[in-house]
Amino acid sequence: MTGAEVQEPVPRFYRSLADLPAVTDEPTGRVTDTMNRPLHDLRISVTDRCNFRCVYCMPKEVFGKDFAFMERDELLSFEEMTRLARISVAHGVEKIRLTGGEPLLRKGLEEFVAMLAALRTPDGRPIDIALTTNGSALAVKAQALKDAGLTRVTVSLDSLDDTTFRMMNDVNFPVAKILHGIDVAHEAGLGPIKINMVVKRGQNEHDIVAMARHFQGTPYILRFIEFMDVGSSNGWEMGAVVPSREVIGLINVELPLDEVAPNYDGETSRRWRYRDGSGEIGVISSVTQSFCRSCSRARVSTDGKLFTCLFATEGHDLRALMRGGCTDEQLATVMAQIWRERTDRYSQLRSAKTIQLRASGMKKIEMSYIGG
Ligand code: SF4
Repeated sequence: MTGAEVQEPVPRFYRSLADLPAVTDEPTGRVTDTMNRPLHDLRISVTDRCNFRCVYCMPKEVFGKDFAFMERDELLSFEEMTRLARISVAHGVEKIRLTGGEPLLRKGLEEFVAMLAALRTPDGRPIDIALTTNGSALAVKAQALKDAGLTRVTVSLDSLDDTTFRMMNDVNFPVAKILHGIDVAHEAGLGPIKINMVVKRGQNEHDIVAMARHFQGTPYILRFIEFMDVGSSNGWEMGAVVPSREVIGLINVELPLDEVAPNYDGETSRRWRYRDGSGEIGVISSVTQSFCRSCSRARVSTDGKLFTCLFATEGHDLRALMRGGCTDEQLATVMAQIWRERTDRYSQLRSAKTIQLRASGMKKIEMSYIGG
């Protein structure tokens, strides 16, 4: 074994009815993994399609005209997604985030939101339903989503400079339309709205302070995210990461900041407040300071694969189990079993893992498939 190798137990994958456990058990409202992390958040990718071709996520060279997106019958139906959500809630999930691709491209999304809004935790509380979007259709959809029961939205926005923004989304989409969509969503009551900016060295770092200035004093919370090595198509390298401490340093020179305590234990974003009281920003240091220790997120891909880490190479095929005719009890047992066996901590082990994956030729799943 070389120093770079990481020895982890080989996970078991559930792919067909033959993998179902012989005995079922009832959800208890809480299930924890091998590192005592509870299952608390569920991210559901509702489509693998997007109208943008952001260079760090769905670059045109890979996701071009000939790229084979999923056929309709491959996607989970809203009923199937709701079934998974209901069982997850029985296991302790209290937050559901809808992602994509671009989730607003999925037709009838409001109906799905309404189905989720009817779910209740074991002690009778409604769940938090959030959505991550590129914002391009927000102005049209915000009110209907709010009426259906959506709680809040997070908008991905990587630059305020129209030229840079059009270049980064690579479909020439103007930034003014996104800013308008954010305002409409705010007026509809989908707040507090978070704005996520992925910072990539050489691409948009010059926009960091301008973004901070623009959103300072508004009801929106701007968050800077380190460029991550998700998937295998975005050409990630460590040199392209702008560490969060550098981001804070740049802003602090012009707009003095103080760090503030997290809202709750395990919050992925570290919070900083403007000293003059004009609001706060956040940094998500997914590369330089991993938050695997408290990671409580499961992800369901558009075609019903359950992933227990954003950097996974393989998922559990819950669509095959559901379409094969498994009962709710069986599904609940499998989902609990998957979580109990979870060992993921990719970010903690990043350098060693990256070397191992490259050497083995294995591919990580793409963010557009599983959601960020
Ligand atoms: S690397 Fe995996 S386990 Fe660690 S925080 Fe990210 S999703 Fe969670």
